Amino acid sequence: MFAQRHANRTDHPDAEQRIYSCTKCGYRMRFGTSRCSDCWEKAPVYNQRWFWRLLYGTCAAMLAVAVIWVMSAFL
Ligand SMILES: [Zn+2]
Repeated sequence: MFAQRHANRTDHPDAEQRIYSCTKCGYRMRFGTSRCSDCWEKAPVYNQRWFWRLLYGTCAAMLAVAVIWVMSAFL
């Protein structure tokens, strides 16, 4: 008997990422879409790709500044 492999199990058959639900109707929105495909309500900002790019970009910039600041204090 072979042990059941859970690695190949697909809980999400569709390849599209559906992380967030619509705030109005609860429909699982595709990630990156600006509007709900079901009720056409405007999607929340965290469902947009640019929001996360901006967030990570800001964090990376702040981290870089912090590293430079710490290094300059010891040099
Ligand atoms: Zn909706």
